[in-house]
Amino acid sequence: MMSPEIETIRQQLPGWLEASLPCVGRGKVASYIPELSKAPHDALGITLMNPQGESVTAGDCGLRFTMQSISKVFTLILALMDNGEDAVFSKVGMEPTGDNFNSMLKLELVRPGIPFNPMINAGAITVSSLIRGESPNEKSDRILQFLKELAGNTDLEYDLGVYRSESDTGNLNRSIAFFLKENGVLSGDIEKVLEVYFLHCSIAVDCADLARMALVLACNGSDPLTGKALIPRRYVQIAKTFMTTCGMYNASGEFAIQVGLPAKSGVSGGILTFVPGRYGIGVVGPALNNKGNSYAGVHLLQSISREMDWSIF
Ligand code: GLN
Repeated sequence: MMSPEIETIRQQLPGWLEASLPCVGRGKVASYIPELSKAPHDALGITLMNPQGESVTAGDCGLRFTMQSISKVFTLILALMDNGEDAVFSKVGMEPTGDNFNSMLKLELVRPGIPFNPMINAGAITVSSLIRGESPNEKSDRILQFLKELAGNTDLEYDLGVYRSESDTGNLNRSIAFFLKENGVLSGDIEKVLEVYFLHCSIAVDCADLARMALVLACNGSDPLTGKALIPRRYVQIAKTFMTTCGMYNASGEFAIQVGLPAKSGVSGGILTFVPGRYGIGVVGPALNNKGNSYAGVHLLQSISREMDWSIF
């Protein structure tokens, strides 16, 4: 017997998903990383999981996609665990930008020229450079191990096709990284920093992996299914705050009003979100709106959150 609330969700979910499907036609699959353009345009899937380990799924929840910017939440947490708050926040700020995720505008405009926050590319590239490890390999391995543990899935791996595709074409991120070096935020070999960044963006997951990772955040850093404490509560609090204020980039205000949950999106169409203490949620819908968030995914979360009265505000 499932708990009553998740049973209600199980009954309603197919209808909510159906109602969001028309939105896929309004979105566009990302193509600036050429390999991402192969994703199915009309896919939409969701998995929700509660601390008892009960889960509900609908649609294309088995679709595999790369984490892209969703990984930024966890590299931030790992960098905080490696270095502490003071060291991390000497290199990256705490404020939303109101600009696109890959904008470098404010790096020149505002002094000191450190990235505004760790959820935009400039901030996340900086965070990747702070992950402990002797080599890009060692840093990347630590990130992948951390994500495997959070997802309770030892099979997580990189999508090397997406990695190469981004590494071959990522001139904007390269420009950002060189600009950050000029500003004294990054040092050393920029290609090595970008290798770590592109690799963690290319980790392949499905909705269940995201839901399980989100569940750990929903439970303040402990995995309710194993009882293991994986993240200090303070660092979950910091990540949760960034997700709420910057996780959906320059649509974070609108998402806070329409959905009202901490969330992080990626250009592959994934969204990781959670209801504190109650559900971890993974969504995928590769067709994006003009802010780089899943068009139908946001619509679906909006319906569920409204119906279930989940807004934290
Ligand atoms: N790897 C992507 C990039 O740097 C991540 C961006 C995103 O998901 N918004 O462009």
